[in-house]
Amino acid sequence: MSQATSSPAAPPLVYAPFITASGVDVFLACPASAVLPRTHRERGTAAQAGTEEHAIRLLPGKLPPKILAWFGGRDPIFEAALAVDCAAVDDGSPSLPQAKFLGQFIDRAYVVPGPRWWAGSADMLDITGDVVSVADLKTGQGQARGSLPAPDKSGQLLSLAWGAIVLRQLRARAEGGTWTPSRIRLAWWLTADAEDDIIDAEISYDALMLWVQTLCHKVRTATAKHMYRGPQCIGCGAFDSCPAQGGALRRVLAGVADLTAVPDDQIATIWQDIVAAHRILDDAEAALKLRVERDGEVVLSDTHRLKMIRGTDT
Ligand code: SF4
Repeated sequence: MSQATSSPAAPPLVYAPFITASGVDVFLACPASAVLPRTHRERGTAAQAGTEEHAIRLLPGKLPPKILAWFGGRDPIFEAALAVDCAAVDDGSPSLPQAKFLGQFIDRAYVVPGPRWWAGSADMLDITGDVVSVADLKTGQGQARGSLPAPDKSGQLLSLAWGAIVLRQLRARAEGGTWTPSRIRLAWWLTADAEDDIIDAEISYDALMLWVQTLCHKVRTATAKHMYRGPQCIGCGAFDSCPAQGGALRRVLAGVADLTAVPDDQIATIWQDIVAAHRILDDAEAALKLRVERDGEVVLSDTHRLKMIRGTDT
């Protein structure tokens, strides 16, 4: 007599997020950036130093008085990772999307429940009453000298505020109520020149929701059909796989062959090609150095060998 057996349930599908908070502005400028394959790159020394500064500064009891005061004198939640299903946000739909609190101080390799989710980590996040406050620590020199957008124009801060609001609204709904923030405060905490510089701004709930509609519409409709090259390319995770970057070196050479014949409106295009060519060459050089380091040395000719010699000036 045969015995009925039930097959084990299939493991749930897991997905990487479609976009992350730090990639939102690149995505809005060029939606293909979230669709093309992304490549992992080793973090440079400046980025590594920034990560270490985050680990030291973003801890309870460690905020400088001015930053603590911005949060009303209480420590915010640090390194809170959130995720929201952008595909569920229809134009004009009042229903709440799914959202998840992924954890605190977790690895940035977020895993989310479905495709076309947004995920991100808020360095500092607080919701007190109906006031939402989100701040991000920026440690770089360039960030202190104008490379950042205004807080209320930053896709990173706006999307993090949205994630926090959706989670709070889902909690209110589970308790049988509704919740709408009266204030949404956004800030950069800059440490390149002083330990407690702040640039902050506010956005209304209605303005944020309009921005969210645009973001989610682009998430739902993004394809790799069209690429829009621009200043955002240098920070794009899909740069290495982007067809639009192919031929940058050839275009630079063609573009500068006779600069007197180049109209003004094409100078910016040539500049973008030069920036792309720099990145291609930097990546190629780094890969070549790794290969030479691994092999010890490479014979170029009877009299020349290529090898890596590391040292310091001190
Ligand atoms: S490298 Fe530039 S053009 Fe290519 S996908 Fe990224 S942002 Fe778009």
